[in-house]
Amino acid sequence: MLIDLDKRSITYLPGVGPRKADMLKKELRIASFEDLLYYFPYKYIDRSRFYKVAEINANLPFIQMKGRILYFDTVGEGRSKRLIGKFTDGSGVIDLVWFKGLSYVTDKIRTGVEYIVFGKPNEFGQTINIPHPDIDPLDQAGQVAGGLSPFYHTTEKMKKSFLNSRAIQTLQYNLLSAISWEVQETLPHRLRMKLQMMPLSEAIKNIHFPESADKLNLARLRLKFDELFYIQLNILRTAGLRKMKLKGIVFSMVGDAFNQFYSEYLPFELTGAQKRVVREIRGDMGNGRQMNRLLQGDVGSGKTLVALLAMLLAIDNNCQACMMAPTEILATQHYATVMGFLKDMDIPVALLTGSTKKSERNKILPAVANGEIRILIGTHALIEETVSFSSLGLAIIDEQHRFGVEQRSRLWSKSPVPPHILVMTATPIPRTLAMTLYGDLDVSVIDELPPGRKPIKTLHRYDNKKAELFNFIRKEINEGRQAYVVYPLIEGSEKSDYKNLEEGFELYKEIFPDFKVCMVHGKMKAADKDAEMRKFISGEAHILMATTVIEVGVNVPNASVMVIESAERFGLSQLHQLRGRVGRGAKQSYCVLSTSYKLSNDTRKRLEIMVNSTDGFEIAEADLRLRGHGDLEGTRQSGDGLDLKIADLGADGQILQYAREIARDILNEDPNLEAETNLILNERLKTLFSGRKNWGMIS
Ligand code: ADP
Ligand code: MG
Repeated sequence: MLIDLDKRSITYLPGVGPRKADMLKKELRIASFEDLLYYFPYKYIDRSRFYKVAEINANLPFIQMKGRILYFDTVGEGRSKRLIGKFTDGSGVIDLVWFKGLSYVTDKIRTGVEYIVFGKPNEFGQTINIPHPDIDPLDQAGQVAGGLSPFYHTTEKMKKSFLNSRAIQTLQYNLLSAISWEVQETLPHRLRMKLQMMPLSEAIKNIHFPESADKLNLARLRLKFDELFYIQLNILRTAGLRKMKLKGIVFSMVGDAFNQFYSEYLPFELTGAQKRVVREIRGDMGNGRQMNRLLQGDVGSGKTLVALLAMLLAIDNNCQACMMAPTEILATQHYATVMGFLKDMDIPVALLTGSTKKSERNKILPAVANGEIRILIGTHALIEETVSFSSLGLAIIDEQHRFGVEQRSRLWSKSPVPPHILVMTATPIPRTLAMTLYGDLDVSVIDELPPGRKPIKTLHRYDNKKAELFNFIRKEINEGRQAYVVYPLIEGSEKSDYKNLEEGFELYKEIFPDFKVCMVHGKMKAADKDAEMRKFISGEAHILMATTVIEVGVNVPNASVMVIESAERFGLSQLHQLRGRVGRGAKQSYCVLSTSYKLSNDTRKRLEIMVNSTDGFEIAEADLRLRGHGDLEGTRQSGDGLDLKIADLGADGQILQYAREIARDILNEDPNLEAETNLILNERLKTLFSGRKNWGMIS
């Protein structure tokens, strides 16, 4: 039997005792040989030359020197107690300084013995010293053969136990130089030759201990390709199998419901983008396969109307349709919108939410089951077991990132034949990310706003200009408008965040005694929250103070001001979502980003992008570049986000595209990966993805 040595527990590695193993696992999730090998350096330092003590100055980055310590000296008392090693290479003397672990150093390091010392020169009064340097015996110079020395992230906790970057480097070195095993190749030989990729074992060695800058580049390419290739292979394979298996209901007709609405009741001309998307959806639902389409459109781009037209198509083909929204408010709003559009047509529509009365429920459920009700709109209530349809042909999910994958999949079982699925989102997902997360989900984009909209004006204001802001809000409200004021709510600091909101609420009430101010946040009971929301929607309240609970979908066209407090604490996409709550009427709208004076460079960039752009896609791309994909599109919320170790979706779009094409070619020839040469792919997919939820399959 072949044992997969890569999976061997890290405790088999010399130098890793139970305590270290525990810490590696807890802090970095490293439990096996493979985990360690795939814990890549985040940067490299050139150690190809040795500096002379005489040339050291505080402006130099990390440097290395070769020489010996003359003697140790302990100076200071209590907290300022430190150990100083007088170091020389013959050209001069410099202080090496330790504030922690003094006895550890004096135990390990001998005076008079030649070492390689590595660290960052630091100015201290009139002199220069090197705090907490790494000290290696000369014979370990082999670990840094190419002169590029790896650096690994470690946590504070680890550093305190001397499990620092240097220690990780040693572990990698020990693991990679052990001769009793070999990293297993993950690409078939023929494929690897065709792609001219470096062998995996060589790539792993070079990513940790580059033989040269060129080799490092090739290693990175190989590892990035591997990572993206397997994600694509997984998504495309599952999606391909699904397509072969699942027949969809064929919507062959465009009938009365659609035609009548379109020609008689549609109150305005569709935008070009809306027309295109409706055509795409019609094509999907008519070709005999099950539709799985993601509809992206910026806030206010008119997705709801597209959804309605798709639902009318379902009705024309003797099917029912349903539409699921993440909150009661949104479901109610959709219901009102659809009822408004269809008021003169004879199409039974019902609303089902958690607060639908029992008597009402008892009427709705049988009518849905026997097909009388043609359109059902609601919340999670739609996927409860008691709900069943006679012929559900189309399920629309609005703002999908609020729904877990599980919940979506339950819609499938509501009808004898799986319904067509249309997922709508106002959070634009950059192309690279969409490909990676959703793979074979077809994507439609509404990239055009209905005519006559005035672009929202966005301003950045520091907190000390509050008086002006209040005057501005007063002026807008006096002209009949309404205003939102949003406070951040960040996990971990909820307590003080709620306090900020509540204090803000008191302040606004004081400043605007003549206006009605209301407040919503996630801690309130759903009924109270809805009541407050309704005050604002009806126009009774002038100012709505809230946490981000209002982020999604709420539509109050009369609101013209969005104030975002502590805007520096929001991500770009979230700011854009919030801003989309205004600008829905014909009047000029404003978004005010209020921040403290002290901002990091990244934050300044984020705010600048917001001020200068109203294009959701541009903003999402920038967001991806600035903070990586981890936080985008709720991948965190659902708990199975991408855990990319080396590829960067913001920068590696081309490699991704390439990996996708290769994966597609392979699957075209061998959809199940059964050919002898592809077994290695099959095995690797199993290791990587078994036990994980599969996005491609369920979306
Ligand atoms: P989204 O759900 O994409 O944020 P909505 O569907 O709520 O956007 O549309 C926003 C507003 O624009 C609604 O009041 C809707 O009636 C209106 N609208 C939609 N399509 C058009 C159009 N083609 N022309 C004019 N107004 C439109
Ligand atoms: Mg909407």
